Amino acid sequence: MKHRIVVLGAGYAGAYVAGNLARRLSPADTEITVVNAEPDFVERLRLHQLAAGQEIEAQKLADVFAGTGIRLRLARVTAVDPERQVVAVAVADADGGGDGELGYDTLVYALGSHVADCGVPGVAEYAFHVTARPAALRLRERLNSLDSLDRRGEGGRVLVVGDGLTGIETATEFAESRPGLSVALIARGELGARLSAGARSHLRQACDRLGITVLEHTSVEAVQATRVLCADGTALASDATVWTAGFAVNPIAAASGLEVTENGQIVVDDTMRSVSHPNIYAAGDSAYAIGDNGRPLPMSCASAGSTGRQATDAIVARLTGRKIVTSKLDYPGNHISLGRRDGILQMVDDEAQAKPKYVGGRKAARIKSGILQISLWGISHPTFGLPKRKRRLATAPDASAEKALA
Ligand SMILES: Cc1cc2nc3c(=O)[nH]c(=O)nc-3n(C[C@H](O)[C@H](O)[C@H](O)COP(=O)(O)OP(=O)(O)OC[C@H]3O[C@@H](n4cnc5c(N)ncnc54)[C@H](O)[C@@H]3O)c2cc1C
Repeated sequence: MKHRIVVLGAGYAGAYVAGNLARRLSPADTEITVVNAEPDFVERLRLHQLAAGQEIEAQKLADVFAGTGIRLRLARVTAVDPERQVVAVAVADADGGGDGELGYDTLVYALGSHVADCGVPGVAEYAFHVTARPAALRLRERLNSLDSLDRRGEGGRVLVVGDGLTGIETATEFAESRPGLSVALIARGELGARLSAGARSHLRQACDRLGITVLEHTSVEAVQATRVLCADGTALASDATVWTAGFAVNPIAAASGLEVTENGQIVVDDTMRSVSHPNIYAAGDSAYAIGDNGRPLPMSCASAGSTGRQATDAIVARLTGRKIVTSKLDYPGNHISLGRRDGILQMVDDEAQAKPKYVGGRKAARIKSGILQISLWGISHPTFGLPKRKRRLATAPDASAEKALA
């Protein structure tokens, strides 16, 4: 019987891992199945642009994996049972083969992350978000309806809660793409507190230029249908509240009995293998991986790449009886778009603190756009540049790889 590798999620991490495993392992010994809820590769990095009303061309996963031998199962993962080594799926598509279970020998968990309400009442009921495509499209519809609001020249009021990278990108994109709206950005502390002084001032100028109202030192305690309530007792009127203040991981990992952190990320070793379940790997936002600086890697596209690469290398090494090589796990910095013509590239040091220098303006916007294109190209060409020779499995893969490590 072939070794069954099941990859959960075909985002930046899962699509990379699946494609590269297919390239490196012999199909005579292995079968690789990818389970994803949506038929397209979702360019999550651009969901705020989609919500703003821009057209984002979607890549079909069937095309991405064509010719790789990977089986694509369009279904929603509902549970993982590590004792029986099966994944429960609910069908997302009439042609997907029905609800059921998929058995695995090696599992790669890469289901990404989603919005977290951080315990704030009303977020789930009333707030919009941009962490998934359906949600971004719902928000876009709402913005369309606000654009047509007749308020004697005053556009609809959009409150973006959270001045992390997603909040900053979302507020600036909306203000630039939809100048008729009145956009406010709510920051719990000083705006862009984690940026260098120069980048902070650049961000402030960009917000001024785009007409964004910045509300600093403001903590939102509740979201209601037409306003948010703040800790200092003020109520801010809002036609669309966009929650960008927190991300959490799908609760499936925790419910499966895997060792996870408080926010549901799977605790992995330096080969991205679950510390509690040795035939399960995690990559991307779902993985709690410690970087070379001793700190957890941030949820990011760069971390999806490095954790995905490491998981792939470790799986291939263990299955084929080769030495496991561990590679660099670092996080060089943040690339923040401020609309389509401005941006900030902020490098960070080994302690994850902003370095004094930053790149801003059109140059930063161009670099960011290049990064997005390269990431997408990498996903669409999963097998590019890798050796064509496919490895056969070792008879006792785990034993020989561990021996080589010792
Ligand atoms: C608006 C926005 C802008 C961002 N900008 C940046 C940026 O500029 N730079 C940066 O580094 N990071 C950015 N990020 C973060 C980045 O998108 C994530 O860190 C990255 O996508 C993580 O990759 P992943 O593979 O772990 O998850 P994802 O890319 O989210 O992929 C997860 C996949 O799993 C699928 N899935 C989820 N649940 C299920 C289920 N139950 N069953 C089946 N399939 C499922 C999803 O459909 C998806 O295909 C941004 C995020 C957002 C929301």
